[in-house]
Amino acid sequence: MDYPGNLFVVAAPSGAGKSSLVKALLAQDAQLQLSISHTTRAPRGQEQHGREYFFASAAEFDAMVATDAFVEWAHVHGQRYGTAKQAIEARIAQGADVLLEIDYQGAQQVRQTFPNAALIFILPPSWDELRARLQGRGEDSPEVIALRLSNARTEMAQAPHFDFVIINNSFDRAVQELSTIVHAQRLRYAAQRRAKAATFAALDIP
Ligand code: GDP
Ligand code: ADP
Ligand code: 5GP
Repeated sequence: MDYPGNLFVVAAPSGAGKSSLVKALLAQDAQLQLSISHTTRAPRGQEQHGREYFFASAAEFDAMVATDAFVEWAHVHGQRYGTAKQAIEARIAQGADVLLEIDYQGAQQVRQTFPNAALIFILPPSWDELRARLQGRGEDSPEVIALRLSNARTEMAQAPHFDFVIINNSFDRAVQELSTIVHAQRLRYAAQRRAKAATFAALDIP
């Protein structure tokens, strides 16, 4: 599928800092829009429907799967998560850059549909730090934290299938690295050719 906007996919084990990094990036990059996923998990404390996620019942999620409404969806930590076609297709067709915060299974599904998407994996600096961040966030029960830590091993084993890797040790540095990837992607030949078509034409570049 050809489209004028750039697509970015960010994956990480839970607690690596993905949402915090993406939030900081979005605050400094007005061209970038976040895809809001659907999930069957319950909202956490401050989460609002339509802001962090579209919270869906199992039946609502089933109906979207049945009507082929998802670009990708996957089972993650005992729940289902998915990116609605509506969350991205119209926006990238209009030339916006869209970022997806999804798990590694979804990232590979997105790559099948959008081969030019940039796949970025965020790693924590260590196991101890990952555990400390999950506990420090204070949003999940000890059972959920244990499940997420045990799933992190499988998730991190998928890092080799991504285009870029960021180790989120110093937060500011990691935001800078994320921003650098976004800028580099925008400067790829095909992206520049689409974004600056008039300049290329004026320079007689076929
Ligand atoms: P309700 O289902 O009518 O109560 O309202 P919702 O707030 O759940 O949203 C209705 C539908 O809008 C959802 O099923 C979404 O698929 C769709 N939708 C509209 N804009 C977006 C978007 O930016 N992202 C996503 N993921 N879905 C969107
Ligand atoms: P994810 O979205 O990957 O599950 P979060 O963005 O919720 O992770 O981050 C998990 C916790 O770690 C949060 O409490 C966040 O404030 C903290 N955190 C994120 N990045 C760093 C960092 N570089 N150094 C220290 N703490 C961090
Ligand atoms: P959390 O519940 O901590 O917000 O997210 C848990 C996991 O689900 C994370 O790995 C996150 O990337 C993943 N996730 C969130 N939205 C989606 C989505 O739309 N699709 C897929 N495949 N995974 C998602």
